[in-house]
Amino acid sequence: MNKVINLEVLNRFSRLIKSGRLAHAYLLAGPKGIGKSETAFEVAKLVNCEKRIAGERTDACEQCSSCIKMNSGNHPDVYRIDCGDTDSIKIEQIRELISRLQMRAFEASVKVCIIKDIEVMTAQSSNAFLKTLEEPSKGTLMILTTSVPEENLATIVSRCHVMKFYPSSVPAVRERLMKDDGLDAPSAQFLAQFSQGCIGKARELNEDGFMKQKNDVINNLVFSQGSDVYLKKILADKPQTQTALSVLLSWFRDLLILKSGGKQDQIVHLDRYDELLTLEKEYTFAKIDGIIDELVRALALLGENLNIKIPFILLREKIWVK
Ligand SMILES: [Zn+2]
Repeated sequence: MNKVINLEVLNRFSRLIKSGRLAHAYLLAGPKGIGKSETAFEVAKLVNCEKRIAGERTDACEQCSSCIKMNSGNHPDVYRIDCGDTDSIKIEQIRELISRLQMRAFEASVKVCIIKDIEVMTAQSSNAFLKTLEEPSKGTLMILTTSVPEENLATIVSRCHVMKFYPSSVPAVRERLMKDDGLDAPSAQFLAQFSQGCIGKARELNEDGFMKQKNDVINNLVFSQGSDVYLKKILADKPQTQTALSVLLSWFRDLLILKSGGKQDQIVHLDRYDELLTLEKEYTFAKIDGIIDELVRALALLGENLNIKIPFILLREKIWVK
């Protein structure tokens, strides 16, 4: 899989390191799948690369013993923390991190800790970590990542230098998916649009076979009226329900765009362009608007963990062209 590294951010770190202005804590903020933790990892590698330290180069060499240990995940002075398969970063993980940061570095010039998605730290974890952020031990670099900066303790955010990651433009992501991942144009267009320009998210969707999944949603809920079994299956699983609603929302937005005279490159479901063109004539503006409102409402209900079985069934009735 192609790694997602934000070269612009990496270069900023490179300049900071070179000029001796590297601070002790950074918060990389941006949407999920945009390459924050991959970039953090590259920074950790760069900081300790022996050839870079010797002044022989400005990037990581990938060959010295530090780079090799980093790439094999065995660097003793680099700690990576995430929530793993659970839904939060626990106090025990933070306690262990703190005690390791207090020890002398084994071999690195800078000990690095990378904490992924700090929004999932428990309140206890955040508070314990705050002290380390306030009084960092010397020679420590902390790189935190978050996709929702506003949901974190303000005291944590304010003690970090925030570096923002912005999504690439949809055309740029589409080009990369075609060039680097060998996708056809309609798939690349769909994944670039649906991931809102996040290359990492787009690749993840592709690996999960999302093109087929989203077409199953459309086939079963837009083009078929005998889809009770399918609907039941979807409704039994919240993430699947959410995905189905999001796919339908993008489908009806496509119809609205076409009805308003929009261009082909604005369409999400480019792989089904001909069907969209035919279908667009069968809905009125008001009908599409109504469906979009219902979809947005259903997504909100789902977000609040409310039962959306009835709204979804009513929605399906509306979707069918009478
Ligand atoms: Zn190296």
